[in-house]
Amino acid sequence: MASLDIDQIVAAVRAGAGKPDYLPLHEPEFGGNEKAYLLECIDSTFVSSVGQFVGRFESMLASTVGVRHAVACVNGTAALQVCLLAVGVRPDEEVIVPSLTFIATANSISYVGATPHFVDCDPVTLGLDPERLVERLETIGERSSDGIRNAETGRRIAAVVPMHTFGHPAKIDGILKVAGDWGLPVVEDAAESLGTSYRGRAAGTFGRVAALSFNGNKIVTTGGGGAILTDDDDLARHVKHLTTTAKIPHRWAFDHDEVGYNYRMPNLNAALGCAQLEQLEGFIERKRRIAKHYQQALVGLPGVRFVVEPEHARSNYWLNTLLLDREFADQRDALLDALNEAGLMARPAWKLMHRLRMYEACPRGRLDVSEDLEARIVNIPSSATLMPKAAG
Ligand SMILES: *Cc1c(COP(=O)(O)O)cnc(C)c1O
Repeated sequence: MASLDIDQIVAAVRAGAGKPDYLPLHEPEFGGNEKAYLLECIDSTFVSSVGQFVGRFESMLASTVGVRHAVACVNGTAALQVCLLAVGVRPDEEVIVPSLTFIATANSISYVGATPHFVDCDPVTLGLDPERLVERLETIGERSSDGIRNAETGRRIAAVVPMHTFGHPAKIDGILKVAGDWGLPVVEDAAESLGTSYRGRAAGTFGRVAALSFNGNKIVTTGGGGAILTDDDDLARHVKHLTTTAKIPHRWAFDHDEVGYNYRMPNLNAALGCAQLEQLEGFIERKRRIAKHYQQALVGLPGVRFVVEPEHARSNYWLNTLLLDREFADQRDALLDALNEAGLMARPAWKLMHRLRMYEACPRGRLDVSEDLEARIVNIPSSATLMPKAAG
């Protein structure tokens, strides 16, 4: 078996990153109005569930993405859970989702009492493959009076949740077409893809509803936080209601008309988010430059390739990704060791959802592409801080 020139790859990654220091996978940067807005928030005493920064953050987000409504909430996982409720996912139903994703995508489905149903990924976009989706639906899908049923389990299939992996858009037009043909609502897990667009349209605007995350490692952070995006006025009203304990607005009375959640983003977090969102374009511009540098540093190296944005996409390059050639998959861990040893924080892809104890019995189609990708993916340092602010 041929062996990989690991030292050469480590040197190329170091050259691409262009800095000699220890480099984390993704660190936040607070070079804007963060301190000013946080101070303003504290001085106002409105640090919690009431305050002007939440509304301001939501309007900024809606106009940045190009969507009618944004509802801020406590984290991306909660945002996904509320999205699923809002499109009508009920207990004992199934939701189609990729196996190559962060645990939150699958867990949010469990939180509403439903079961993830895993479908394979596309090798170029690393996201849900519309061809595998249609293949799976044709195999197990049965049209019935209340929608699509899984003929093998008898459960209703209630939604499809594509995820834009590492900031690269999934084959979203194909996914929308298949989901539309089968009458399934699409919930986009856009947690990693704020600022990404496909054919000029932003990730998070394609499905009925989408979820974003502002965790500390995402492209824009609120400390912890998430948001729900939609163009649907009624759905927006409902998710706002659900994330605010389903309280009926009244000057003094407490009345709630369904089981809601205390998922509202605190004002303090939104203040941080406003300052961060002001810098989004700059972050993306720098992250795209880092990706270029890596691509140039790695070009022609045997055994490895740098994952570039799909056709018609403008990716935010949230996490830069190396893909080892298939014959070197068994040396992935040695490369991970060497990169981390050299002060270049590197991580494999997430363990596939269908291999986790709690999800191993879930329904699934063939997942050979996800399994193949998972064995070969290595994420490398991707912070915007790797690049100076001005283009150079
Ligand atoms: C970050 C992330 C989420 C949400 O994460 P939170 O930490 O709950 O904000 C959901 N899905 C994916 C794919 C993610 O990367």
